[in-house]
Formats: sequence, C-alpha cells, structure tokens
Amino acid sequence: MRGITAMMNVLSVLVQPKDMLLLEKNKEPAKEQNCTTPHLFCYPAQSNFSGTKYPLSWIRKIKARELCPVRIPGKWFVLLDAAAFVSTSPLDLTVHTADFVAISFYKIFGFPTGLGALLVNNEIAPFLRKIYFGGGTAAAYLAGEDFYSPRQSIAERFEDGTVSFLDIIALKHGFDALERLTGGMENIKQHTFALAHYTYTVLSTLKYTNGAPVVHIYSDTDFSNPDVQGPIINFNVLDENGDIIGYSQVDKMASLYNIHVRTGCFCNTGACQQHLGISNEDIKRNLQAGHMCGDDIDIIDGRPTGSVRISFGYMSTFEDAQNFLKFIIATQLSKADMKFPSQPTPTKTVTESEESPMQNDQTSCHNADVLSMKTIIADTGPWNNSSAMLKTTRWQPPETELERTRAAVFERAVPVHSSSNKPISVTNICLYPIKSCSAFEVTQWPVGNQGLLYDRNWMLVNQNGVCITQKQEPRLCLIHPSIDLKQKIMVIKAEGMDPIAIPLEENLEKERQICQSKVCAHRVQTYDCGERIADWFSEFLGRQCHLIRQSSDFKGNATQKHVKGQAPSATLSLSLVNEAQYLLINTASILYLKEQIIARLEEPLETEQLIQRFRANIVINTMEPFEEEEWAEISIGALHFQVVGPCNRCQIICIDQKSGERNKEFLQSLSNARGRKTHFGIYLMNQSSCSSSSYILSVGSPVFPMLKESTKIQCPPSNEEKASG
Ligand SMILES: *Cc1c(COP(=O)(O)O)cnc(C)c1O
Repeated sequence: MRGITAMMNVLSVLVQPKDMLLLEKNKEPAKEQNCTTPHLFCYPAQSNFSGTKYPLSWIRKIKARELCPVRIPGKWFVLLDAAAFVSTSPLDLTVHTADFVAISFYKIFGFPTGLGALLVNNEIAPFLRKIYFGGGTAAAYLAGEDFYSPRQSIAERFEDGTVSFLDIIALKHGFDALERLTGGMENIKQHTFALAHYTYTVLSTLKYTNGAPVVHIYSDTDFSNPDVQGPIINFNVLDENGDIIGYSQVDKMASLYNIHVRTGCFCNTGACQQHLGISNEDIKRNLQAGHMCGDDIDIIDGRPTGSVRISFGYMSTFEDAQNFLKFIIATQLSKADMKFPSQPTPTKTVTESEESPMQNDQTSCHNADVLSMKTIIADTGPWNNSSAMLKTTRWQPPETELERTRAAVFERAVPVHSSSNKPISVTNICLYPIKSCSAFEVTQWPVGNQGLLYDRNWMLVNQNGVCITQKQEPRLCLIHPSIDLKQKIMVIKAEGMDPIAIPLEENLEKERQICQSKVCAHRVQTYDCGERIADWFSEFLGRQCHLIRQSSDFKGNATQKHVKGQAPSATLSLSLVNEAQYLLINTASILYLKEQIIARLEEPLETEQLIQRFRANIVINTMEPFEEEEWAEISIGALHFQVVGPCNRCQIICIDQKSGERNKEFLQSLSNARGRKTHFGIYLMNQSSCSSSSYILSVGSPVFPMLKESTKIQCPPSNEEKASG
C-alpha cells in the first residue's frame, strides 16, 4: 500500500486505533470546507490478531466529517477490511455504507480458497482509474494506438483476466449451506462468542500452585461484549516462573491433541508489535539473528517473537473449546498432578455432602478434565471460589533443583573438554530403506554419497503423489524391509502378508514413469515401482498407495542444502530424508530420558524400544548424556562427518515402533527433560569429498569427536527431524 501510494505521490499516514478512539471522544465540530481532495481511510472491522472489533460507526462519522483521522482538508472515503469480521458477524451494508469493503470467502464458509471480493460503492465507482487492463474488461481498444475504452459495468471493468468461474459457482452453495446449518450470521456471532467467552474465562483463571498464571492473553477487551470482541483468543503459554514457552513448542504439543493453532505474528506485525512490546529495532535485530516471519524461532533473548492464536468458527463446538482447555491443562501438568487434592479443599467441604454420585465420580477420576472443572464451577457459584480451588491443585510438578540446573546447563553448554577418556564406539547401525517404514539393522554397511547405501531410497505415496509418513499412517512401522546385497534384492515383510522382493538394480528402461515428488519442499525425481508392489502395500495398509524410488541417474537430484559454516554453494546430496544424511543418537542420553519417562508414565520401558523410536542411523554410547550436542565434527573409522545441528523432534517419537501405537507422553517427557526443547540426537553430513561405496561403516568402529571451539548462540534448526522419514 505504502509503495503504491508513494508511486502516485500520495502520502500514507499511520493512524493508531487508540488515536482514533481518542479523537472520537474529544470530537470537535467539523469545519465547513469545500476542498474536494480525496482521502481514503482504511481499517479492519475486526483485528485478526486479537479479535478486537473496531466501531463500524467510524464509517458514517468519517464520511460526515464528524471524525477526522488526519487533520487535512478534503473529502474522506472509507475502505473497510471486513475479511476477519464477516466470518462470524453480520455486516449490514445499508447501515454501514463504506465506499469499499474487502472480504474473503474461505473465511466465511471454508471454501473456496483464493477467492475474495472487493465491494465497491456504485457512487464512487466512476472515479476509479485503471492503470492496467486484462482480457474481458474493454469495450474496445486498439493494438497500434493508445486507445482503450472500458466496459460500463464496474465489475466487468475491473475483473481483469479470466475469473475463477468454477469457484464462483460454489459461492451460492456456500451461502445456502451456511444459512441452512446455522440459521444466519447473528446466530453464528452469538454461538462463536459464547465459546470464546467460556474459553477466555477458564484460560485467564488458570494458575500454577504458586499463583502464577498459565497463559498471558493479548486482548483489548475482557470478552464481555460480542460487539467489540470477535471469537479469537491470542496468547502465550507461561511456565510457573512467568517465562514464556515458545509458540513452536505449544504448536507441536497442540498437534498431538489434534488441535490446530496459528502461531507467529499472523501477517499482522503492527498488532504483534503492540501487544508483545516489540520495537521496530527488535524486528530488524531479530531478522539479523536469523528469525523470519513464519519460522519457528519463537524466542530470542528470552523474549517472544510471536504468539499463539485460536479462533472459533460456526462449526466449532463446546467440546472443541473443552478439548483445547484440556490440552493446556494436560501439557502444563504432570501425570501425578492430574488429580485434584484428595483432602477436601475449603470450597469443597461445603458442597461435598450435597454432591450427587455423578459429580462425585467426576471429581474423583478424570480430574484434569475440564468437564469436572465446570461441574465444580457451577456448584460453587462465584468464579472466584473455583479459581481458589484450581489454585489448590498442584499444576506443575516441583522440579527438583538438580533437574532444573541440568536443564539450564544444557541450554547454554560450554564445552571445555570431553567428559571421559573412555573410547567411544558405534554400537548399532540402522537404515530405513523405505522412508517411514521399519529399521533394517546391520553390523556393517557401505556408505554412499547420500548416506548409508539404500537408506530412504524408497517411499510410499498416495494417489496424488504425496509422501505418506508415520504421522498419517503409524502402521508403516509394521512394514519390515531388508536388503540382501549379494542377491541384489530388497525383501519386504509384514504380518499376514507373503514377503515380496524388489530388485536393487534400478529400472533404467525408457518407459519407466518418472515423476516429481516433494520431500519437505525439495523436489526429487522418482519413479514408480509398479502395480504389483503397489497392490501389496495397498492391501496391507488398506488404502491406495504406490511405492516409488528415488532416481539416481537424474541430474539435479542432489538437493541443495545450506549447511551452517559452509559456503551456500556447498551441495549436499540427500536421499528421501528430510534433513540430513545421517542421524546419530547416544545411548547415554536415551538412558537419561528413560528415567524421566518412566517417572511420568509409571510403566516399565525397554531401552531398546526407546532407541527405536528415535529412528537413528548410528547409535553410540558415551559416559555423559547429551555429550554429543557439544561436538562440531566426528570421525568414525576412515569417515569424517560434520555435525549439522541438533535434531528437533516431532510426534513420531510418540509411536511405538513395534506396535504402531501412539502415546503423547513421549514428546511431553522429552520436552520436560530438555527444558522445553525437543532436541534429541544430532545430524551428520559426510565430509569425505570422494564419498564412494568403498567406505564401510561398522559396529565397533571407534568414534572420535571434536568439540566446538567456542560457544556460539545456536539458532534452532527450522525443519522437522529427519527421523520423520
Ligand atoms: C485474512 C485477512 C486478510 C487477508 O485475506 P486473504 O483472503 O486470506 O488474503 C486481510 N485482512 C484481514 C483482517 C484478514 O483477517
């Protein structure tokens, strides 16, 4: 906007909401004037950051010169950005006669994306100038001369090019379905506001044992009036010390609960700066520190770069709101603390004898359950009482001093010397021939230029060619590929299926079907392994899929990857992995983590089983846990590796690799054990320039680490782990 107006020599002036509200209060009578210079005032009917609704009365007042955003003679027009507003609020254009109104249809009924509308008041339409024209907008024009006469109708004149006619057909059905399902926008407004009000009320009352709030909510209202507040809650989660838990962390945990949250600054840097107290200088400095809009660097120098937003739409239910609250409570509570205190609390003693068996039941079993909280809230009357009740619950396990120190040390580890002189060696080597399927463990294995030979050479895709991972299909870990180098075949087994074999030699026939696939935004060339194989996998998984293989003869197959400390031109060749050639984990770190998880789960857990969840290529064992995070380079036998960075874990570690069952506790435990981070293991890149398969990696080979020279501030890696493949 600023660029466009500057090009036309028009000044654009920033007006803060608070200035407008102030002007409205101390309004002065408008002076009569006959200046007709046009000015345009643009504002959102609802903030997409906080859900604050700005007064629609501004439209009339500004046009009537009762309210003047900038003291300048001329005639004011108003553009209302109603994109966020109209998704849950009625907008009567006969009352609020803005000159321009921008809306976006997917925000109203979820479909079709990419289609919006600019409504233009017929009175102002004749004044609009065109600086470009595309097909269909001209009544007549000349190729050889500067002659263009636009069509009469305003829509025809401005709809340049071919309109999205198929999507436009869908609009009528969208509006009809919305009306049929909800009975109209006023109902949607009341329904969504009620959900937001409930969620806000519970959320803002949650406290840790020490009285510290669990979330900081960014809002301009107290959610008491749907005319000034839309159904949006924007917040950051805090720990019991009041420190912010980064939005990426919250996002990752929410995904475990099937909750989608928006995080970051929501393309609304103004509101974000205002609510989070980020200065212009901070924004520039954060960019230099490597933070970009939309990445997962959520905290810099202890301060947030963004926040978490939840929104309610017409299809949201009370259960959705409860599930969200359950998620916040469960992730901020340890299992041991999920019980309400067994001794009656002061508020409870009063009502205890009158409790119905059902309420009794609810308060005694699933006590982190918001439902029971609601019962208590309803029973004990004033909200204050129940918040006192909540406070008596221990919301956070008292972290032992040792653990706390430990977490702090890991955060800013200053490597000085290796903690032990005991030789380190490779204890296990695993490859994952088919991305996301089971591991194939070996005692020695040739090294190729993309990692272990045949590691992640194949992957499964759906009918649309999109990679299927364990995230969507946990049963992939029940598929066991193994490779016979002598017979040059890969044999694939799965329970209840006859084993099937695939030749390792690449099918180089002309007619093979080359297709492009996307792995973590990188394009790779692949080819289909055929119908016979596809049928085998489709039968086992009970869904249509194809096995595809990365093609090795295609130029440009090497994925460009920028590696820290290397010239950007350095090219790293990757297979169908997401992140790096090798992933290394340390059994000492596994054992440390195991203790933590057992404490949380109160169930036995096998080390072997835990190792499998982290889907590493190389397993080693050192004296100290997390020693590996202090390494810059390592040599294993004749091979030399550079450490690319830590591996940031996702929900795949929640899947038991033997059974395919999911358990959220694992990511939660890792996060707790690592001081809110989910790093585990390190990525390696083979530096031997002449990497050829003449190198063999063997179990028992000695490992020689080289420590980082000095402590550098490390940016968290931006991508998800390799092990998701
Ligand atoms: C979503 C939104 C936009 C952008 O609309 P798109 O159709 O997603 O490009 C603009 N303004 C506000 C207030 C919004 O909420």
